[in-house]
Amino acid sequence: MKIAVTGATGQLGCIVINQLKETNEKGNIVALARSPQKATGMGVDVRVADYNNPVSLNIALMDIATLVFISGSEVGQRIPQHTNIIEAAKQAGVRRIVYTSLLHVDTTSLSISEEHIVTETLLKNAGIPFTILRNGWYTENYEESVISGLKANTFIGSACDGKISSAARRDYAEAIVAVLSSGAHHGKIYELAGDESFSLSDLAAEVSVQSGKLISYTNLSSEEYVTTLLKAGLPHGVAEMLAGIDVSTSKGDLFDDSHQLSNLIGRPTTPLSDVVKDFLKQA
Ligand code: NAP
Repeated sequence: MKIAVTGATGQLGCIVINQLKETNEKGNIVALARSPQKATGMGVDVRVADYNNPVSLNIALMDIATLVFISGSEVGQRIPQHTNIIEAAKQAGVRRIVYTSLLHVDTTSLSISEEHIVTETLLKNAGIPFTILRNGWYTENYEESVISGLKANTFIGSACDGKISSAARRDYAEAIVAVLSSGAHHGKIYELAGDESFSLSDLAAEVSVQSGKLISYTNLSSEEYVTTLLKAGLPHGVAEMLAGIDVSTSKGDLFDDSHQLSNLIGRPTTPLSDVVKDFLKQA
């Protein structure tokens, strides 16, 4: 019974492959990659799968029973790409799909939600048993802010005191493996987030404690934040996107206290302090 993982060369996909190797025959694990050379050394079967190339997907999924469908990273192109993946899964007779969606996708103000909503609908209509894991924010998303904040003694944003219930990628990866271990998760939708919730001021305080330097968080209006990011050389679209994420954060869209992630993986999610410790090793 073969399990294939999309985005296997990505940061989440690599962790999923490594975790799957602990409980599955390596010969039954298939890493799907648009650049197979990136997957050499994974120790599993590697197949070419480009979301823009339906033929590659049809061939890659031919004998696959279970598809771990990690959402693509090319924002704005994901509806046709995800359609191609689901169509190929139907043609190949895939018997189960686990999809990584977005926390509270039906109510969030995050602009990236639309592609996930469309994908969830396509999945529900595909006739293949599915599980949807609506992933919250990765704590690792704050690595750059922390590293540049350490240099400037402050980091900036426009999230006000919005609470962020993020978790580490390894926690979300473990949830994928956990749902694969039983058929009880068919048709279920889980809202996954960290046990701990923090604001950007709380993050600055944690970095201060661990680094021994006083790091503050400076809250800007979203317009000021965009202007500052543009001055730092970010492209306009990226600056707008980052400010938009912070506005959604200020509205509570990254908050969740349902503890479904720790319930699924059977342990508390990775504490913020552990992830900050890892950031500081890179700084
Ligand atoms: P990542 O490191 O950027 O990995 C994305 C993966 O998608 C890579 O393997 C990439 O292949 C692959 N990919 C992109 N476009 C493709 C295409 N056209 N055909 C085939 N493969 C393609 O992202 P991540 O950190 O692992 O996160 C996994 C997903 O979660 C992202 O793709 C995104 O949908 C979502 N996400 C979530 C958060 C969060 O905080 N929850 C944050 C960022 C993203 P290459 O290695 O060849 O580039």
